[in-house]
Amino acid sequence: MSVLVIGSVAFDTIETPFDKAERCLGGSASYITLASSYFTGAVRLVGVVGGDFPKSAIKMFNDHNIDIEGLEIVKEGKTFHWHGKYHFDMNMRDTLSTDLNVFANFNPQIPSSYKACKYVCLGNMDPDLQRSVLAQVEKPRLIVCDTMNFWIESKHAELMQTLKLVDVIIINDAEARELTKEHSLVKAGKKILTYGPKYVIVKKGEHGALLFTKDSLFSAPAYPLEDVFDPTGAGDTFAGGFIGWLAKTDDLSAENMRRAVIYGSVMASYTVEKFGLERLKDLSWVEIQDRFREFKRLAHFEEV
Ligand code: AMP
Repeated sequence: MSVLVIGSVAFDTIETPFDKAERCLGGSASYITLASSYFTGAVRLVGVVGGDFPKSAIKMFNDHNIDIEGLEIVKEGKTFHWHGKYHFDMNMRDTLSTDLNVFANFNPQIPSSYKACKYVCLGNMDPDLQRSVLAQVEKPRLIVCDTMNFWIESKHAELMQTLKLVDVIIINDAEARELTKEHSLVKAGKKILTYGPKYVIVKKGEHGALLFTKDSLFSAPAYPLEDVFDPTGAGDTFAGGFIGWLAKTDDLSAENMRRAVIYGSVMASYTVEKFGLERLKDLSWVEIQDRFREFKRLAHFEEV
């Protein structure tokens, strides 16, 4: 099944306690599409970049069979640039600058060849734009949505409107607490279900993820990596692996949703091993399967 992804395509400057990378390819849609591309050959991207966007980046999308008909290139403009710096505790980061450039006027237009996509992933962006995308697509089977504290604080009412229309919301622990004013993540997850989504995924960084449905809770482990090199894009990669697996299998059963959460975690665990997209762009299906099985072994135990 095909996956439609809308979000930012960016240059990122990333500083970690160990190293620095200048203007590497990033953005939510880059991570989501690349992660999904390992599961389905029908990934379609909608985003905007400037005339400074390099041919090498276009080639990377092409090499992964990602359809970029929906990637608008504004020749006279500049590509979105984000600069972030991680603390020694890499769960914490500061945004040093956000130059929206052409992304400031992003008005997603869904090409007609994309409109029948069955799986839609709305990357983190203005909730009004997320709804404008949903108004342009024809009956998707599953709509997954990401968001961030910026929209929770600045466009709360609009975000609540979007939540009524999506099937899955992926949110991190701090954002879930902020959105619901609940300290307990269990209470927060259950409360977000009442806002509209049928599935709520709360990511807990290096502590795994929780999947809530009306009548179940699944606690997914995180992969205990010895070295996290750069956490940028881990959340977006998780979303890409999650929706990619569901699109590949076209199975929305409870057990398969759990597998999708693990595939999301598998892909995110690879992304953080190197800067930016470096690790994610050169993965193999064998590596993905190996780590999926390692997740299974790590969390497996039996009753006496
Ligand atoms: P994550 O680490 O999963 O939160 O995502 C990091 C990516 O989000 C980076 O590649 C950035 O380019 C992108 N990003 C940062 N700020 C924004 C924003 N305000 N809107 C859209 N994308 C952003």
